[in-house]
Amino acid sequence: MEGIQRLSHHLSPPQLTGKCPTLGRTAVFYTPIPVIKSQYEPIAKPEFSPSKSAIKVNFITKNRGLGLNSFSTGPARAGWFLGLGEKKKSTELPEIVKAGDPVLHEPAREVRPDEIGSDRIQKIIDDMVKVMRAAPGVGLAAPQIGIPLKIIVLEDTEEYIGYAPKEETKAQDRQPFDLLVIINPNLQKKGNKSALFFEGCLSVDGFRGMVERFLEVEVTGLDRYGEPIKVVASGWQARILQHECDHLAGTLYVDKMIKKTFRTVENLQLPLANGCPKLGVR
Ligand SMILES: [Zn+2]
Repeated sequence: MEGIQRLSHHLSPPQLTGKCPTLGRTAVFYTPIPVIKSQYEPIAKPEFSPSKSAIKVNFITKNRGLGLNSFSTGPARAGWFLGLGEKKKSTELPEIVKAGDPVLHEPAREVRPDEIGSDRIQKIIDDMVKVMRAAPGVGLAAPQIGIPLKIIVLEDTEEYIGYAPKEETKAQDRQPFDLLVIINPNLQKKGNKSALFFEGCLSVDGFRGMVERFLEVEVTGLDRYGEPIKVVASGWQARILQHECDHLAGTLYVDKMIKKTFRTVENLQLPLANGCPKLGVR
């Protein structure tokens, strides 16, 4: 999901203790199950810390003439993941897979509980976190690095959010939350409200489209230690969760978007065509 920057205090590995943090409007609950945590390696701290000037854009909701604009930073290049301008130069990180690769268009398989503690799965998770942060982005699904497994990672920070206009983040109900690693996520909507905003995806570089998402969702699954986890989220975090879970079903945002809103990033601020629904909560 969206791109951004991060504060140094957010760079440390969060949520590895099995506690029950309340993240803004997102509550995370853990129900411990027997797991030997010491066998896992901690998530490596990201080495990439781009300057603010390197950030080209943010996840967008801007739409001239619809009352939610105010996104005045010019053509954005961000989207689900942002900051395409200063990628980390590292041959160690997997490439982000682009649309057209079958791995993005086919369902991923569940991770078996007995696999979770393996070096392979832990390495995949570490790589995903690094790739997400290097983009930088706010969410990533395993198929996006070519791994057809049901694993997602996501995080959003005050610093990332600070790069977007306040009106925009307010309309999106965008709140910071610490790193979440969810294996075999099962997403369910809560309530009947939905929200329409523009989305982008690093696997679909250079484009945006409006997608209607549930305003509130509940996601259950396992954390990187194999412990049950439940995330109740609303607003922008709920959108990130839906976007990433869709990846695990082989669905890209372009499969769900309102087609007539599809556009290049450069045209993001142009008015919507007649007949398109308005941005916002409904
Ligand atoms: Zn995506």
